[in-house]
Amino acid sequence: MITARHIRFSYPAHDGGGFSLEVAAFAVSGGEAVAVVGPSGSGKTTLLSLLAGIETPQAGEITVDGVAVTGLGEPARRAFRLAKIGQVFQRVELLEYLTLEENILLPLRLADARVDAAARMRAGGLLARVGLAGKAHRLPGTLSQGERQRAGICRALVAAPPVVLADEPTSSLDAASAGPALDLFFQLVREEGATLVCLTHDTAQLSRFDRVVNMRDLAQERGGRP
Ligand code: ADP
Ligand code: MG
Repeated sequence: MITARHIRFSYPAHDGGGFSLEVAAFAVSGGEAVAVVGPSGSGKTTLLSLLAGIETPQAGEITVDGVAVTGLGEPARRAFRLAKIGQVFQRVELLEYLTLEENILLPLRLADARVDAAARMRAGGLLARVGLAGKAHRLPGTLSQGERQRAGICRALVAAPPVVLADEPTSSLDAASAGPALDLFFQLVREEGATLVCLTHDTAQLSRFDRVVNMRDLAQERGGRP
């Protein structure tokens, strides 16, 4: 489902530069839930940006769900991202002037998909699954951090993406709510049949994943392989 081979990436020097990431081999099978761990600054978010086609490596090849992402120009990468990738960000940024439902429908609007009754049903169904059914028409400012995080999960899944990329999705939650939030996230990802790559430094949560990949091992040929 996802393969990255012989990747070399560094940020441009005028952005501070200095950081470079090497990935000899990283592969995730369809339906797998993989955790990527490593200390802060080890390049986890950078890896996710490469998989999502937000950043382009200087060398190497990335394919996601049959698409050779590294061969695409910017408009095609944007279309790829909208069609294939659901992202859960470390900080869930919701537009404060849109209702929860409208926030969740945003990926469909960005992809120029029709936001019809069926799409609203889909958003409503996801909101119900995360316990926010009664809050679809609320503004984000009236939600708790945990509720915002759950809304972020709905937004990532609304377009039924084959791949979900999550950047430390429970880091804004306290220890007591992180476990249940991740359980729910996992259930939804599995129900959707999506493939999950989830960055985390929360070692208490690792047993839930099919596999754990350490950033430190990625530069080795067998490091990120099943
Ligand atoms: P992690 O997610 O593991 O904490 P990151 O991928 O965010 O690591 O960052 C890895 C390194 O790349 C850090 O040194 C960071 O400062 C640098 N970096 C991250 N994003 C950028 C950027 N847009 N431009 C320049 N350097 C960046
Ligand atoms: Mg990060």
